[in-house]
Amino acid sequence: MTPEEFRRRGHAVIDWIADYQKRIESFPVLSRSKPGELRAALPEEPPETGEDFDAVMRDLDELILPGITHWQSPNFFAYFPANASGPSILGELISAGLGVQGMLWATSPACTELETHVLDWLVGMLGLPDKFKSSGDGGGVIQDTASSATLCALLAARERATGFRSDEKGCDGTLVAYASTQAHSSIEKAVRIAGLGSRNLRLIEVDKKYSMRPDLLVSRIVADRAAELVPCFVCANVGTTSSLAVDPVPEIGRICREEGIWLHVDAAMAGTAALCPEYRFINEGVELADSYCFNPHKWMFTNFDCDCFYVADRSSLIRTLSILPEYLRNRPTESGAVIDYRDWHIPLGRRFRALKLWMVIRHYGVEGLRHHVRAHVGLAQELADRIEKAEHFELAVRPLLNLVCFRHKGGDDLNMRLMEELNTDGRIYITHTKLDGRITLRFSIGQTNTQRRHVEDAWRLIEETAGRLEKD
Ligand SMILES: *Cc1c(COP(=O)(O)O)cnc(C)c1O
Repeated sequence: MTPEEFRRRGHAVIDWIADYQKRIESFPVLSRSKPGELRAALPEEPPETGEDFDAVMRDLDELILPGITHWQSPNFFAYFPANASGPSILGELISAGLGVQGMLWATSPACTELETHVLDWLVGMLGLPDKFKSSGDGGGVIQDTASSATLCALLAARERATGFRSDEKGCDGTLVAYASTQAHSSIEKAVRIAGLGSRNLRLIEVDKKYSMRPDLLVSRIVADRAAELVPCFVCANVGTTSSLAVDPVPEIGRICREEGIWLHVDAAMAGTAALCPEYRFINEGVELADSYCFNPHKWMFTNFDCDCFYVADRSSLIRTLSILPEYLRNRPTESGAVIDYRDWHIPLGRRFRALKLWMVIRHYGVEGLRHHVRAHVGLAQELADRIEKAEHFELAVRPLLNLVCFRHKGGDDLNMRLMEELNTDGRIYITHTKLDGRITLRFSIGQTNTQRRHVEDAWRLIEETAGRLEKD
């Protein structure tokens, strides 16, 4: 593809994306594709000779689009947002156009330095402790996902707890990690991958608001020490996936300090809220954390994938993950004056992700980002008020930010039928969880273009659909 042909096709592709954005509300939010349907429509063998790009674009419309669940629809209220924005999409495109590999500072200095700079900006933007800035002992790095950030935090915690010897000898089955019963599944995955074994993950019970009970954390640590085990890692949630519960980080942090345990704070979804000073209560206690992560790819208008991971002491992380083979040796690395992000995460190679984040922040400005976050939280609070007043519905918990957990009073079966009915209808998409053993519907507000009318229409649809099911 010559630059001229690329220019022509590229314009058409941008048109395609802009048209997609314009007509996105006309699609069923949840794809109606059946298992195997797309594969059955694709040719058995790849083309032997190159095909016309127009034919590819036609298949995009006819074959691919029906198999898409529209995460960028303003009527997408399922799971959690994975929102996006124009500047982010363009940043992603430029990153692809440059096609650099930023494993070392030397392999593309701007890729590293823009990342360091934007992550330092974000410390200030979110009101995080200064110790996470690269100017001190800490620093931030972009990871693909919160799952990877948690794994890196756990690996560094494991090494710190064993005098950096388990990297060499492997784990001996005595290290223990802690999280609440509401913690994300990525914590258990990290515990498995890091070699601690899921048997050595303690899930601590929660209180009525689904926040970890620090008294039970302490008693579990004491019991583990008595059994000659080595507590090494606590993951505190700031915004659980099920209900957006926040663990008492100040208390958990004090416990971790006293016990010499690494504290990681997982704020994957909720962290973005700290852009707004009035929601900074979610950062309480974070100054006691050894590491912290949040996902701009969830609620901060930045395309997947982009997780910001901070450590208070970068040397533990780097010592855990750094290996310097001869073929990567270079003068800037040896000078010690540069950051080589390959030592801050699991893969060697890395994309230029900071570009999209930089473009998002510059396009919106901090005030612009706050505006959208506040709007989402406001809509969630309005919806919660309606649910509180609705005869047949109840809130499972008062929403802290942008996630509304509620249920129909008619029981688990009715709630599941209601959700299935709504998602089949296609005008909205919601998902569920279990809280206190009961089916709970989750209505997550965070897509970039979701406005009051979308939430109001959705609620009307939910009430109407429930009304029909009650009569069955
Ligand atoms: C979404 C989420 C995760 C996992 O995020 P990935 O970036 O997909 O790994 C982890 N923890 C919490 C609290 C989340 O909301």
